[in-house]
Amino acid sequence: MTNNQNLIVVTGAGGFIGGNLIADLRRRGNTAIRAVDIKPLAEWYQRFDDVENLSLDLNLKRNCEIAAQGAAEIYNLAANMGGMGFIENNKALCMLSVLINTHMLQAALKHGVERYFYASSACVYNADKQRSFEAPSLKEEDAYPAMAEDGYGWEKLFSERMCRHFREDYGLRTRVARFHNVYGPWGTWYGGREKAPAAICRKVIEAKLSGQHEIEIWGSGEQTRSFMYIDDCLKGIGLIMNSDILDPLNLGSSEAVTVNQLVDIVEEIAGVTLQRKYDLSAPKGVNGRNSDNTRIQQLLHWEPDTSLRNGLEKTYRWIHDQYLARERGEAGVVRESFAASN
Ligand code: NAD
Repeated sequence: MTNNQNLIVVTGAGGFIGGNLIADLRRRGNTAIRAVDIKPLAEWYQRFDDVENLSLDLNLKRNCEIAAQGAAEIYNLAANMGGMGFIENNKALCMLSVLINTHMLQAALKHGVERYFYASSACVYNADKQRSFEAPSLKEEDAYPAMAEDGYGWEKLFSERMCRHFREDYGLRTRVARFHNVYGPWGTWYGGREKAPAAICRKVIEAKLSGQHEIEIWGSGEQTRSFMYIDDCLKGIGLIMNSDILDPLNLGSSEAVTVNQLVDIVEEIAGVTLQRKYDLSAPKGVNGRNSDNTRIQQLLHWEPDTSLRNGLEKTYRWIHDQYLARERGEAGVVRESFAASN
């Protein structure tokens, strides 16, 4: 599949957004796709038989060159990441993802790649601007002066800048989106790396099925966030990749809720009311954060618009099915392999 003008490479393909992106690219008729992830193929969340699937550690430059060879476009989604519990306790590991982006950029340049997408994060924003619980809306310029989330956020901010300088100095067309909390089917929902929406869905399902009507919430529940449904994320990735937008752009929902409101919605979907216990010593991140979508609206005349209620409904159902399958011992259910017709 090398030297194909239209070859699209997706890294982090065994994970949540990467797997969904490949499904989306296939739906749009792309036939030359290379999927790369460090995980053994059997552990990928989604895997497609009509795609070139490679298990490679992209920390290593030589593997990035294998991944980039013949590519027209690269979507670099590979990173060590997870919810607050993970990133607060794995700062060095999160910062090591800088190796992936560094080597992928070098490999992209070497192989004459036309466009390069980098998945940044709302964790690049200055912590001082997120002290209020009133969901401060973060504009793109609020990343500076820099005081990013320790570890994970600093790596993202550094890698954003490296994309900019590869564009300015070497002419590589880089595009950068700052994702705000993405959720949906095929996302991590157990094991320690899951983020709030999936963790809350799982806890509500557990409480409902066990009859123990209690839920533990990290922090006071008053923290505010916005959550973007995966379909909006995929649409935004495509729009930004194919645009002439040079600076990092927010890609997130502007529908901010408190964690308590997030639990309210999931309880309503599940048809239960749970007694809430707050763990004030648990990792909880900044007090408030929302996506200011002024710039994306100006530039793309669009913003992520799936309501949290609708997105959570689909996510809850998916996790519910996964949960029951896992209970039955069907552990492979999250790692299905799809034939070309899917
Ligand atoms: P994910 O953990 O499901 O997927 C990331 C994938 O990268 C994993 O499958 C992992 O195995 C792979 N990976 C890690 N190290 C690697 C290496 N050395 N070589 C090759 N592959 C490696 O996470 P996701 O939610 O799909 O996130 C995708 C991207 O979006 C990441 O860069 C993440 O930082 C960014 N992001 C995600 C969110 C979110 O809410 N999900 C928010 C902001 C930014």
